[in-house]
Amino acid sequence: MSLTEFLSNFTRIFFPSINTKCTHDKIRPDAEQSYCPDCGKLIQNEWYVTRCSCCGVKMKAMVSNGKIVPQHHFCSNCGGKDFTVEKIEKINFIDINFAALIKREVDEERFCKTTRCWQERTAEQPKLLVQYL
Ligand SMILES: [Zn+2]
Ligand SMILES: [Zn+2]
Repeated sequence: MSLTEFLSNFTRIFFPSINTKCTHDKIRPDAEQSYCPDCGKLIQNEWYVTRCSCCGVKMKAMVSNGKIVPQHHFCSNCGGKDFTVEKIEKINFIDINFAALIKREVDEERFCKTTRCWQERTAEQPKLLVQYL
């Protein structure tokens, strides 16, 4: 075992959160939410755009240090520097060019609710089918 390997194993054992931080790269950006095949967490895709707070024009957004910021420092329309961040409920082909994507981990409590909701839905389904038959 080389020193690097040893150190890597060492960190994995003693600081699991550092080494196993998943970036959820395999989550498709067009899905509203899905499970990450790498870590099994439920990931919600959240899209944000930035808008010039002076003239309201959309500014191309990016993620920097976990924050949504405009890609350019100044508005191309009015030269303004201030911006507002806007969450997009449903991403479309136009906004996707401006938007930045944040992959948010859905917390445990919400995860449970979703599962329950799905179970209820599947339980109702056969009953309806029987009624129509
Ligand atoms: Zn993941
Ligand atoms: Zn502007």
